[in-house]
Amino acid sequence: MNADLITYLTLRDKHDKATRRPGQRHTGPWSELVAMLTRHAILPNKDLGLGFAPLTLMDAPCTCGSETCPGQAGHLISTNVLAFNALMLDCDKYRDGWR
Ligand SMILES: [Zn+2]
Repeated sequence: MNADLITYLTLRDKHDKATRRPGQRHTGPWSELVAMLTRHAILPNKDLGLGFAPLTLMDAPCTCGSETCPGQAGHLISTNVLAFNALMLDCDKYRDGWR
């Protein structure tokens, strides 16, 4: 493992819980993350925007048995997380005109 690279997962939107779709898992340098996380889109519904999770997850079908489990596509649940790769802070709230 290269310590300069970060492994992360992209999600279609807030409701996407799959973790094994082709093109969904990424490993890249900080500059790649910075480029992705500093381009912003103002959407009418932010829950429908691209999601990001700096996690390493099990690469196997999920067997949790949940009614909403994506099964073969993997499942974004805590028991499938192998590692947290970055600390994320939610900074989308502002006040007094600060953005
Ligand atoms: Zn599951």
